[in-house]
Amino acid sequence: MSELMESLPRGARTWTCQDCGWIYAEAIGMAADGIPPGTPWDELPASWTCPECGAHKEAFVMVQP
Ligand SMILES: [Zn+2]
Repeated sequence: MSELMESLPRGARTWTCQDCGWIYAEAIGMAADGIPPGTPWDELPASWTCPECGAHKEAFVMVQP
């Protein structure tokens, strides 16, 4: 478990990029892309891509607790 994961509220959903391992946490959002904390994965725009490797949303999988 990373420090990021440990710092999240219980029950917060996170998603990880299968290509590079970058993690999107719904509780944190993605400020650099104008996505506020608490934004559900489903509400990210379809055009959103991984900030690390540019993979599309399809490349991400939910992190199981
Ligand atoms: Zn990636």
